[in-house]
Amino acid sequence: MRTILHIDLDAFYAAVEQRDDPKLRGKPVLVGGSIKRGVVASCSYEARVFGIKSAMPMAEAMRRCPQAIVVPVQMERYVEASQIFFAILGDFSPEVEGLSLDEAFLDCTGTERLLGEPETIARTIKQRVTAETQLVASVGVAPIKFAAKIASDIDKPDGLRIVTPENLLPFLHGLPVTRLWGVGEATRAALASMGLETIGQVARYPEQALVGKLGAITGHHLAALARGEDSRSVEAERDAVTIGHRETFEHDLDDKGELAITLLSQADRVAVRLRAAELRARTVTLYIKYDDFRQISRRTTLVQATSDGGVLARTAIELLAKVPIEARRGCRVRLCGISAENLEARDAPRQLGFDEARREKGERLGNALDRVTAKFGKGLIKRAVHLPDSDDEPGD
Ligand SMILES: [Mg+2]
Repeated sequence: MRTILHIDLDAFYAAVEQRDDPKLRGKPVLVGGSIKRGVVASCSYEARVFGIKSAMPMAEAMRRCPQAIVVPVQMERYVEASQIFFAILGDFSPEVEGLSLDEAFLDCTGTERLLGEPETIARTIKQRVTAETQLVASVGVAPIKFAAKIASDIDKPDGLRIVTPENLLPFLHGLPVTRLWGVGEATRAALASMGLETIGQVARYPEQALVGKLGAITGHHLAALARGEDSRSVEAERDAVTIGHRETFEHDLDDKGELAITLLSQADRVAVRLRAAELRARTVTLYIKYDDFRQISRRTTLVQATSDGGVLARTAIELLAKVPIEARRGCRVRLCGISAENLEARDAPRQLGFDEARREKGERLGNALDRVTAKFGKGLIKRAVHLPDSDDEPGD
């Protein structure tokens, strides 16, 4: 049995702003772009009371809470806090897997003699984060990643939840199925039509019947999670190998649609190189450099490693949606790029997941594109969105 911690800073950007400006403390604070066109990048707990969430349009957030205070994103400060945060985590284990600036998995298996019980480690991490960054971390501890992530979220803010191996199933079984990794609205509705609303009900349902209703991949996947089986290990990035593509624009861009089209073509190029190297990527990172040379990156780790340009593009465009971009100085984009990280060999054994059929189709299509490109040269084949007068929405 492993001991896995998931550590997540509470309302990260907003908390940094409240820390640095006492006038913001105790108030609904929205971090993000312009009130007219921007989205909420982060919001304080005082704002969440009004139903405001990250990625909500700023205009909608202001309708819900007109007295909210809007402050711009100050990425350098968040990066600075993040570096301290990760330095603290590194003191507890070499096995740190960063998921974003303020979120990480940590594997502490076998460190009890050195560092104490998991609860002691979790409390010490919380204390050090508060002492050294004046921010608050929520921590979940569990024998599997999937449960550790839920555990850190469930008592937020300032949460601490320990799920012991003996408590794993009772903990999971009381939760709604939407807590299962990968269950979106469609699968939730399908499960509801079978009378399954909690993870426990999924665990007790005959697996073959689940497979009959949801297909082999989803059925077996959900049954395994509901039994508390998640074999993913904490993967520290020791030798971060990446394949990426970036470009600097002649003119700064402030239109997400135009950027999305660029990402689509960059994703295709990255995918070609992945397939040529017989690799798949599990993590997609979006890089943005603003016209004032401020740089940010956003990353997502996929459920399934991929070499499909369509998946890479969709993921990058989803990340782009949460990035503030506007027509004013400091918020226009000078460079954007995408990189594929967390690479694995294409024939590496993989956990089965969702979208298997679509993934295979996307990769086969990619292989076919590569062959045609090799034969006839680049520029002949482009995704439909690159053609003039296309009705396709990038990112759909
Ligand atoms: Mg967080």
